[in-house]
Amino acid sequence: MQAIKTLELEKQYKNLTAVDKLRLEIEKGELFSLLGVNGAGKTTTIKMLSCLTRPTSGDALVGGYSITKETEQVKQLIGVSPQETAVAPNLSVKENLELICGIYGFSKEKTKAKIAELSRQFSLDTVLQRKAGKLSGGWQRRVSIAMALIGEPEILFLDEPTLGLDVIARHDLWDVIRSLKGKITIILTTHYMEEAEALSDRIGIMKSGSLLAVGTAKELKEKAGTEDFETAFVTIVTDQKIVTDTKNGKEGLV
Ligand code: ATP
Repeated sequence: MQAIKTLELEKQYKNLTAVDKLRLEIEKGELFSLLGVNGAGKTTTIKMLSCLTRPTSGDALVGGYSITKETEQVKQLIGVSPQETAVAPNLSVKENLELICGIYGFSKEKTKAKIAELSRQFSLDTVLQRKAGKLSGGWQRRVSIAMALIGEPEILFLDEPTLGLDVIARHDLWDVIRSLKGKITIILTTHYMEEAEALSDRIGIMKSGSLLAVGTAKELKEKAGTEDFETAFVTIVTDQKIVTDTKNGKEGLV
């Protein structure tokens, strides 16, 4: 079954078409990464699919519900960890988690049990009492993802989850994301090619609001005729061809 199916989904800002009649299908349980250069329309797509902004035209089915006509049902199915982390800086980590549990109307017992469960899953024990705003970027993203999971979503949106993190923090967060793989559907945006390659079941490459290519990392590399995923991305986005310098045996783009 499909978790997401877009139907000519479009978003215009005045004269600018940020998302252009997008056709995208994501299977249930899949980890799907959206890649693209700055301004390709990734965040706008995620914002529409998570009902944070309305499409100008077209529609999408999220868990079978329309994002334009069945917004409430869609919101109950999804969790979002946005680009700017959703963590309240002046509250402790525990208070942040409690706040979201409160929004979902959890009882005291359920809140306690949920925080204990997330603390175990995300190894949050040591930071629960600390002010969220004082944590490192990596820990804040970790907390942000934990918060997005409180409502037990079927579909999780992660907009650039590892932006600006050091390599260790990024790998730690990959482990967190891997632990969720297969259990829920995950849609992730990133500028890190190795992240998309390491985590995704399939990858979609966007440019100017449309999908240029969709496939596994292996399929996209085959399509571009290269063994390196970053080169494949550049080849597809710039529509350049790879040539081999026969003298030096090196590959390059023309
Ligand atoms: P990035 O990788 O830089 O985050 P992106 O692929 O997520 O980029 P979007 O943020 O979706 O791209 O932006 C797509 C286009 O829409 C860009 O040209 C951007 O300037 C424009 N845009 C996005 N939000 C708005 C807005 N609220 N008002 C006007 N234009 C917008």
